[in-house]
Amino acid sequence: MIGRSSKKKKLQSPYSSMRPAEPVRMAVSAGGDGREMAAEPQHVVLIHYHEIGLKGHNRSYFEKLLRANIGRRLALLDAGWIRVRRISGRLLIELAGAEQAVQAAKLAADVPGVVRVSVGLRLPQNMELIEQTALTMMAECEPYRSFKVQARRANTDFPINSMDLNRYLGGWLDDRLSDKHVQMQQPDVCLHLEMIEGVAFLYTQTLKGVGGLPVGSAGTVVSLLSAGIDSPVASWRLLRRGAEVIGLHFSGRPETTDTSEYLVAQIAGRLEPFGGLKKLAVVPFGAFQRQIAASVPQGLRVVLYRRLMFLTAEALAVQEGAKALVTGESLGQVASQTLDNIRAVDDVVRLPVLRPLIGSDKLEIIAEAERLGSFAVSCQSHDDCCTLFMPRNPETHANLEEVRRVWENLPVADWLAAIMEQMEYPRLPRAKTGPAAPQPGITKLADAHLDGELLS
Ligand code: ATP
Ligand code: MG
Repeated sequence: MIGRSSKKKKLQSPYSSMRPAEPVRMAVSAGGDGREMAAEPQHVVLIHYHEIGLKGHNRSYFEKLLRANIGRRLALLDAGWIRVRRISGRLLIELAGAEQAVQAAKLAADVPGVVRVSVGLRLPQNMELIEQTALTMMAECEPYRSFKVQARRANTDFPINSMDLNRYLGGWLDDRLSDKHVQMQQPDVCLHLEMIEGVAFLYTQTLKGVGGLPVGSAGTVVSLLSAGIDSPVASWRLLRRGAEVIGLHFSGRPETTDTSEYLVAQIAGRLEPFGGLKKLAVVPFGAFQRQIAASVPQGLRVVLYRRLMFLTAEALAVQEGAKALVTGESLGQVASQTLDNIRAVDDVVRLPVLRPLIGSDKLEIIAEAERLGSFAVSCQSHDDCCTLFMPRNPETHANLEEVRRVWENLPVADWLAAIMEQMEYPRLPRAKTGPAAPQPGITKLADAHLDGELLS
């Protein structure tokens, strides 16, 4: 983390040859609305997003959704009313203190749509105050050896360009931090100064967010959610791309225990920080599997179980206004996931079936499940309904015409009506402030600093 060692004699600063003169200080002191705000620096969290910023006319819709989702997540802080507002390509959270700001940043980093979260201070555009605050913030970053200033003005209303701000504040700090040196590439500390809408923001700490798009911006899907490793990851991928996800779990009950149902509820809990499931539906499927197993050629059992699952998922989707189904299938992973079998199952539904993991290797999926926190849950032993009455030699290349012929002779409409009648909607676990395990792309602030993973 710590850069090359400092020499006794201070190195020549890259700022020294290009430092602008005193007019910078005067121009900044003359700055706008900042004079009306509290003279003391205030703790804030700045939320940075990326894809939302590219949305053209729809941009404000996406921003409002992200703002609402962050607001909901911050309700967990138990800190009374917290304001989240939009400022020029960023969202700003105003908070009472430093500790609360760090907690809010960690919570906000989980929210799909958030790319980065910075914890810092908001202050008037008064250069003397900016200088002194910057010096204090740099002291709080100890131990470090190298630094740089990264300034940005949100628009040209502010009279000084970013380059001159960099040079001025960088040079000013360099004169006072005699045991530090300026380093443009990979400095130990990067002090950000942002001039936005008449206010200055200073920060040195940034967490990585989960990225993606705000949940609610992409419509609703029904995700076939087992207690296995793959489907929680598939559901998470859709949440991250802005879909609202309804989980549908098929339990082997009454032919098996209900362990998988408890595990799926825990998996739903792991998805909570990212927006969570909109709803969870559970079908006691064992009796229907028994009937299928008794009526069809052995090799086709699994394909026919899965056709009935997909049909059920589509019926639920229609009922809930969802526009696609989701599975955790990965090409060739097991017998039911060959192209022939995928085709023989998809044949029964008209809605699109999304398979976000189709090209992923198992090891990649496991790594993602570990980051999500669902892996440990999925590893607990449970009866999976798919393996119930499993034939010795399941068909790997089902013939579509044969599958259709067998299917037509089954009382599918009656089964579907009975399944929908028996469908259960267990209560979802409430959101918790802290995830049980590290999550995708997220580094805890304190750990990140130690690991050198802090972004800036
Ligand atoms: P694993 O990680 O063990 O592969 P899996 O849930 O992916 O677990 P598969 O047999 O590969 O099990 O099933 C493929 C897909 O079918 C799952 O990703 C899931 O979307 C769906 N599925 C399988 N079993 C169930 C179930 N019991 N309830 C709901 N969906 C299921
Ligand atoms: Mg699988």
